[in-house]
Amino acid sequence: MLHHYKEAFIRLFYPAACEVCRANLDLEETILCRRCTGNLDALAWPMEEALVDERFEHLDNVWTVYAYRSPVRELLRGVKYARKDYLFKACQKHALEIAQAVTSDFGYNAILPIPIDRLKLMKRHFNQAEILATMLKPWLTPPVDRSLLIKHRSIPSQTFLSQCERAINVYGAFQLKHPAKARNRSFLLLDDVLTTGATANEAARLLKLHGAKRVDFLALARAVPNIKKATILGPAL
Ligand SMILES: [Zn+2]
Repeated sequence: MLHHYKEAFIRLFYPAACEVCRANLDLEETILCRRCTGNLDALAWPMEEALVDERFEHLDNVWTVYAYRSPVRELLRGVKYARKDYLFKACQKHALEIAQAVTSDFGYNAILPIPIDRLKLMKRHFNQAEILATMLKPWLTPPVDRSLLIKHRSIPSQTFLSQCERAINVYGAFQLKHPAKARNRSFLLLDDVLTTGATANEAARLLKLHGAKRVDFLALARAVPNIKKATILGPAL
């Protein structure tokens, strides 16, 4: 109770703002205002629609939690470019619902955050996929393995490449630190955004080359050009 009063007093002079629309937050709100929370909820796929209806050569199943639109887009950009790790918290509830369902169904040996190369790590100081894994792992059974999969070479930006060009671009970008650890194991790859899936597919190719029996992929957001999400409350940014 005392904490509540203290917080109310502080907010009187330093009102907290919504991380997406900058509206003042009520005392019980954190990170997002009610309107942006509603928009975020509207972008979460129900469990039966979270499975991506597209074939990837080396990935067995692919799931995503949200459509990559505002406010998901602003939250992920905030993590990636402004080092606001805490913005992932706004996505925790929806991400856990799907991650828990998937991991309990398939009993993976490990969760592998998609790594970034050393150059990018030096520039950015963190890997957003690892931050996501760290946030989810206390509630998930499979351990998070950060060392098995290594990205050993930088790849040019994928932004303006087609699916086929991306697959060529990323070919051979990963290595396994201990290849024997992949044999007869099953893995869940984890990342923030799914665009064409070329990166995760390449990681899956390598794991399967070394004997992995199953490789699935869970991404927080899926880039989709036209989605039927009529329940969004605010203008799509
Ligand atoms: Zn807002």
